[in-house]
Amino acid sequence: MKKENEMMIEFDSRSCNEAFARVTVAAFLTQLNPTLEEVADVKTAVSEAVTNCIIHGYEEEVHKIKIECAIDEKQIRIIVSDGGKGIEDVKKAMEPLYTTKPDQDRSGMGFAFMEAFMDEVKVESGPGEGTKVTMWKTIG
Ligand code: ATP
Ligand code: MG
Repeated sequence: MKKENEMMIEFDSRSCNEAFARVTVAAFLTQLNPTLEEVADVKTAVSEAVTNCIIHGYEEEVHKIKIECAIDEKQIRIIVSDGGKGIEDVKKAMEPLYTTKPDQDRSGMGFAFMEAFMDEVKVESGPGEGTKVTMWKTIG
Protein backbone atom coordinates (compact mmCIF):
# COMPACT_ATOMS: atom_id res chain seq x y z
CA MET A 1 0.00 0.00 0.00
CA LYS A 2 1.28 3.47 -0.90
CA LYS A 3 1.87 5.63 2.14
CA GLU A 4 0.92 9.30 2.24
CA ASN A 5 3.66 11.94 2.20
CA GLU A 6 3.60 14.29 5.17
CA MET A 7 5.24 17.51 6.37
CA MET A 8 4.77 19.78 9.34
CA ILE A 9 5.94 23.32 10.13
CA GLU A 10 5.53 25.48 13.21
CA PHE A 11 6.26 29.20 13.24
CA ASP A 12 5.62 32.43 15.15
CA SER A 13 2.31 34.21 14.57
CA ARG A 14 3.91 37.27 12.98
CA SER A 15 2.39 38.66 9.80
CA CYS A 16 5.82 38.55 8.12
CA ASN A 17 5.58 34.71 8.35
CA GLU A 18 2.36 34.57 6.34
CA ALA A 19 4.24 34.60 3.01
CA PHE A 20 6.64 31.94 4.34
CA ALA A 21 3.70 29.69 5.21
CA ARG A 22 1.94 30.02 1.88
CA VAL A 23 5.11 29.54 -0.20
CA THR A 24 6.16 26.51 1.86
CA VAL A 25 2.82 24.77 1.33
CA ALA A 26 2.98 25.66 -2.38
CA ALA A 27 6.47 24.14 -2.62
CA PHE A 28 5.25 20.91 -0.98
CA LEU A 29 2.30 20.85 -3.40
CA THR A 30 4.51 20.90 -6.54
CA GLN A 31 4.96 17.09 -6.40
CA LEU A 32 1.33 16.82 -7.59
CA ASN A 33 2.13 18.95 -10.70
CA PRO A 34 -0.61 21.51 -10.00
CA THR A 35 -1.65 24.19 -12.49
CA LEU A 36 -0.81 27.82 -11.67
CA GLU A 37 -4.46 28.31 -10.79
CA GLU A 38 -4.45 25.39 -8.34
CA VAL A 39 -1.29 26.74 -6.69
CA ALA A 40 -2.88 30.18 -6.38
CA ASP A 41 -6.04 28.66 -4.85
CA VAL A 42 -4.09 26.75 -2.19
CA LYS A 43 -1.89 29.77 -1.40
CA THR A 44 -4.94 31.98 -0.91
CA ALA A 45 -6.61 29.44 1.38
CA VAL A 46 -3.46 29.01 3.50
CA SER A 47 -3.01 32.76 3.65
CA GLU A 48 -6.55 33.32 4.93
CA ALA A 49 -6.25 30.60 7.56
CA VAL A 50 -2.88 31.85 8.82
CA THR A 51 -4.04 35.47 8.92
CA ASN A 52 -7.01 34.38 11.03
CA CYS A 53 -4.70 32.69 13.56
CA ILE A 54 -2.60 35.87 13.83
CA ILE A 55 -5.42 38.41 14.00
CA HIS A 56 -8.27 36.55 15.70
CA GLY A 57 -6.72 33.53 17.43
CA TYR A 58 -3.81 35.30 19.11
CA GLU A 59 -5.04 38.90 18.65
CA GLU A 60 -1.56 40.02 17.56
CA GLU A 61 0.26 38.37 20.50
CA VAL A 62 3.10 36.14 19.28
CA HIS A 63 2.54 32.40 19.80
CA LYS A 64 2.87 29.33 17.58
CA ILE A 65 0.93 28.43 14.46
CA LYS A 66 1.17 24.87 13.13
CA ILE A 67 0.63 23.66 9.57
CA GLU A 68 0.43 19.96 8.80
CA CYS A 69 0.21 18.77 5.19
CA ALA A 70 -0.37 15.32 3.81
CA ILE A 71 -0.46 14.18 0.21
CA ASP A 72 -2.32 11.00 -0.64
CA GLU A 73 -2.54 10.07 -4.32
CA LYS A 74 -3.80 13.31 -5.99
CA GLN A 75 -5.19 14.93 -2.84
CA ILE A 76 -3.60 17.37 -0.42
CA ARG A 77 -4.88 17.82 3.13
CA ILE A 78 -3.77 20.97 4.96
CA ILE A 79 -4.35 21.56 8.67
CA VAL A 80 -3.75 25.08 10.04
CA SER A 81 -4.05 25.33 13.81
CA ASP A 82 -3.52 27.78 16.65
CA GLY A 83 -3.82 27.55 20.42
CA GLY A 84 -5.57 30.88 20.68
CA LYS A 85 -8.88 32.13 21.95
CA GLY A 86 -11.06 29.94 19.75
CA ILE A 87 -14.46 30.53 18.14
CA GLU A 88 -17.73 30.53 20.06
CA ASP A 89 -20.08 29.83 17.14
CA VAL A 90 -18.27 28.15 14.24
CA LYS A 91 -21.34 27.99 11.99
CA LYS A 92 -21.89 31.74 12.30
CA ALA A 93 -18.19 32.52 11.87
CA MET A 94 -18.18 30.66 8.56
CA GLU A 95 -21.04 32.69 7.09
CA PRO A 96 -19.86 35.05 4.33
CA LEU A 97 -19.49 38.67 5.51
CA TYR A 98 -19.53 37.68 9.21
CA THR A 99 -16.65 39.28 11.10
CA THR A 100 -15.99 40.14 14.73
CA LYS A 101 -13.54 42.86 13.70
CA PRO A 102 -15.44 45.13 11.25
CA ASP A 103 -13.55 48.12 12.67
CA GLN A 104 -10.21 46.68 11.52
CA ASP A 105 -11.02 46.63 7.83
CA ARG A 106 -12.03 42.94 7.92
CA SER A 107 -14.64 41.89 5.39
CA GLY A 108 -15.59 38.51 6.86
CA MET A 109 -14.72 36.67 3.66
CA GLY A 110 -11.79 34.50 4.83
CA PHE A 111 -13.73 31.27 5.39
CA ALA A 112 -15.79 31.92 2.24
CA PHE A 113 -12.57 32.11 0.20
CA MET A 114 -11.21 28.94 1.81
CA GLU A 115 -14.44 27.14 0.91
CA ALA A 116 -14.42 28.54 -2.63
CA PHE A 117 -10.81 27.62 -3.37
CA MET A 118 -10.61 24.23 -1.65
CA ASP A 119 -12.84 21.16 -2.14
CA GLU A 120 -13.75 20.87 1.53
CA VAL A 121 -13.12 22.88 4.71
CA LYS A 122 -13.71 21.71 8.28
CA VAL A 123 -13.36 24.02 11.29
CA GLU A 124 -12.99 22.70 14.83
CA SER A 125 -12.90 25.28 17.60
CA GLY A 126 -14.25 26.30 20.95
CA PRO A 127 -13.74 29.21 23.36
CA GLY A 128 -10.27 28.90 24.90
CA GLU A 129 -9.54 25.75 22.92
CA GLY A 130 -7.78 27.18 19.88
CA THR A 131 -8.84 26.62 16.29
CA LYS A 132 -8.09 23.85 13.82
CA VAL A 133 -8.93 24.36 10.14
CA THR A 134 -8.65 21.29 7.89
CA MET A 135 -8.85 21.74 4.11
CA TRP A 136 -8.78 19.22 1.28
CA LYS A 137 -8.15 19.66 -2.43
CA THR A 138 -7.73 17.13 -5.20
CA ILE A 139 -5.28 18.25 -7.88
CA GLY A 140 -5.89 17.55 -11.57
P1 ATP B 1 -11.38 38.71 6.43
O1 ATP B 1 -10.86 37.30 6.45
O2 ATP B 1 -12.28 38.96 5.25
O3 ATP B 1 -10.32 39.72 6.58
P2 ATP B 1 -12.48 37.90 8.95
O4 ATP B 1 -11.14 37.34 9.28
O5 ATP B 1 -13.22 38.55 10.05
O6 ATP B 1 -12.34 38.91 7.71
P3 ATP B 1 -13.20 35.17 8.32
O7 ATP B 1 -11.79 34.87 7.99
O8 ATP B 1 -14.27 34.58 7.47
O9 ATP B 1 -13.43 36.75 8.32
O10 ATP B 1 -13.47 34.76 9.84
C1 ATP B 1 -14.76 35.03 10.41
C2 ATP B 1 -14.67 35.19 11.92
O11 ATP B 1 -14.30 33.94 12.52
C3 ATP B 1 -13.62 36.18 12.40
O12 ATP B 1 -14.10 37.51 12.39
C4 ATP B 1 -13.33 35.67 13.82
O13 ATP B 1 -14.30 36.11 14.72
C5 ATP B 1 -13.50 34.16 13.66
N1 ATP B 1 -12.21 33.44 13.49
C6 ATP B 1 -11.69 32.98 12.33
N2 ATP B 1 -10.53 32.34 12.52
C7 ATP B 1 -10.28 32.38 13.85
C8 ATP B 1 -9.22 31.88 14.68
N3 ATP B 1 -8.16 31.21 14.18
N4 ATP B 1 -9.32 32.10 16.03
C9 ATP B 1 -10.37 32.78 16.55
N5 ATP B 1 -11.39 33.28 15.81
C10 ATP B 1 -11.35 33.09 14.48
MG1 MG C 1 -10.06 36.17 7.96
